[in-house]
Amino acid sequence: MSLTEQKILSDAKKRVAIVTGIPGVGKTTVLNKAADIARQDYTVEIVNYGSVMLETAVSSGFVESRDQMRQLPPEKQRKIQKIAAETIAKRTEQGKLLIVDTHMLIKTPEGYLAGLPDWVVTTLEPDVIVLVEAEPESIFSRRSKDESRLRDKDSTTEISTYQNLCRAAAIACSVLSGATVKIINNQEGMVDKTAEELAVVLRGVK
Ligand code: ATP
Ligand code: MG
Repeated sequence: MSLTEQKILSDAKKRVAIVTGIPGVGKTTVLNKAADIARQDYTVEIVNYGSVMLETAVSSGFVESRDQMRQLPPEKQRKIQKIAAETIAKRTEQGKLLIVDTHMLIKTPEGYLAGLPDWVVTTLEPDVIVLVEAEPESIFSRRSKDESRLRDKDSTTEISTYQNLCRAAAIACSVLSGATVKIINNQEGMVDKTAEELAVVLRGVK
């Protein structure tokens, strides 16, 4: 067997899980709890794609806060996105599961922007892509209550369309990268249950 074949078949691969969901669905909340479960067993690092993008955007003088980023011209967002993908890919390590907390689609004034376009998903090489979903009414109410962020005021119909489009984009990412796609429902008041379900998925790719 050639060295390349040995490398491809090796279990010592650098593992990457991408966790997505529309803004306010609860992915960061659920992911932090799932990572606490996972850490009892193996090494995990969570990286928030938006935070890495924000560091670049702030240091370039484009924005001052996170929620201003999706208002930037798509061309600027794509440039920042690419730099972030390369920065994050460098954090992968053998024996560690790198979990990327990100968005499948970003709602910009110019339309939906892919969070994981070809050049991002093939740079990150994920094993699994998780879609965290919830009832549109729950997301609407979570967004209204969350005062820590400047959240979009979408109707439940718009939230529903957004989630459906994210499913389509996730499958496109799977076709590009070979990653599996897992849908997890983050029911109202059930963060612990959702976190346990996510921990099982993460264990599967570890
Ligand atoms: P963003 O993409 O904007 O970062 P997010 O998906 O990471 O959003 P969080 O910040 O984790 O969302 O959660 C949004 C709000 O929803 C928070 O106030 C959180 O406490 C609440 N929340 C999360 N999960 C649930 C749940 N299962 N039931 C009720 N509230 C929840
Ligand atoms: Mg978040």
